[in-house]
Amino acid sequence: MGLHQTDRGTAEQYDDVYALPISERALAKFRMPDRPSDPRAVRALIRDELALDGNASQNLATFCTTWSEDEVHTLMDECLDKNMVDKDEYPQTAEIESRCVHILADLWHSPEGHSTMGCSTTGSSEAAMLGGLALKWRWRKRRQAAGQAADRPNLVCGPVQVCWEKFARYFDVELRQVPLEEGATGLRPHQLRAYVDENTIGVVAILGVTYTCDYEPVKEIAAELDAIQADTGWDVPVHVDAASGGFIAPFLHPDLEWDFRLPRVASINASGHKYGMAPLGVGWAVWRSADLLPEELIFQVTYLGGDMPTFALNFSRPGGEIVAQYYTLLRLGREGYRRIYQAAADTAQALAQDIATMGPFTLLYDGRGALPAVSYTLTNPASAGFSLYDLTDQLRRRGWQVPAYPLPPKRDDTVIQRVLIRHGISHDKIALLSQDIRAAVERLSGGIGTGTPEQPGFHH
Ligand SMILES: *Cc1c(COP(=O)(O)O)cnc(C)c1O
Repeated sequence: MGLHQTDRGTAEQYDDVYALPISERALAKFRMPDRPSDPRAVRALIRDELALDGNASQNLATFCTTWSEDEVHTLMDECLDKNMVDKDEYPQTAEIESRCVHILADLWHSPEGHSTMGCSTTGSSEAAMLGGLALKWRWRKRRQAAGQAADRPNLVCGPVQVCWEKFARYFDVELRQVPLEEGATGLRPHQLRAYVDENTIGVVAILGVTYTCDYEPVKEIAAELDAIQADTGWDVPVHVDAASGGFIAPFLHPDLEWDFRLPRVASINASGHKYGMAPLGVGWAVWRSADLLPEELIFQVTYLGGDMPTFALNFSRPGGEIVAQYYTLLRLGREGYRRIYQAAADTAQALAQDIATMGPFTLLYDGRGALPAVSYTLTNPASAGFSLYDLTDQLRRRGWQVPAYPLPPKRDDTVIQRVLIRHGISHDKIALLSQDIRAAVERLSGGIGTGTPEQPGFHH
């Protein structure tokens, strides 16, 4: 008895995190604990749970930033309390947001880069909602001014990211998704005529199609809409979803005209937290000129002190990502972005070459001309002896996260695989991946080591 009590007494001072009370049972899942716990122990236990997640540096499925310099970590920490919506309380954070907008407007060749409108968002999805809303409002005003019906808006696009399907459903717009043609990696201009009409609020062109990583031909799409206007009078603007390409094309493909150099491009969105290299939680929406953003969409908020215009779906939002975005723009400059993405593109192209020589694969996109990425499919899925889903599973055993998924409608019988190269994914790492793909293909096509025991009776 006495001994037991002594043990309890010392336990109070004993400070190993794995011997504290909270460590003695599974963490709460349904009910908040009654009492507080030691912060080091709580942190250690949560961190241990998080270790069950995939390793972000082997996640070749995501476009998003998974590596940042120490200075970004420091700035993020220092900005933990900055609320983006309190533009009067944090005027310098607001000023930094505005500088980013104008720098991006300039990078994308806005004719009014110094004065145009734009904003930060939580990502490209929110930016797409705002871009889509501006298109819808302008179309409706035009129709109403002409005394025409304005109740059946539609938006025309190719194989878009799910955010555009959300926009259409949330804001009551018919989404006219043009199916992917055989052999195409995105929307093709000659397909437009069958889909565009007087109720089309805009066409979304994608710079970096999520499925294939290729750019859609924005200039040719704009030219086709010029021709359609000449024939019908319908003046259909283009919004470019440059979620990933907006931070690649200006550096790797400076002569490609996809941005505000094309008069028909009214607005552009990009994800700062993808190839913008900012940490997760920031996107950008920029309009060609201020008059393209209908003023009815801008709210004047007075209760923060001062009279602040806001155009956003969220109210409170963290400011750190925006400050970190400004840091990356200043820190790297155009030359820094170019070098990092040239290295990434070289790595992607080397991987593409390897994959092409392995035997069972056909490249869909070889890392040239668009995003630093590779996409491929099985040349003969029926006779390969394995599926790309099997290959995904095999690679996962070594920690690699390489997704397999079907192409969008009309081509959805084709399953493809995609590898994205970003900042922090080195040539060396991808050389190791390449070896692992080769080994996995050998195992899978030989039917050994796949975890399925050989069944001799099966083959006769
Ligand atoms: C990732 C992506 C989006 C969505 O962007 P988030 O920043 O994740 O919200 C939209 N469009 C395209 C083409 C994308 O690649």
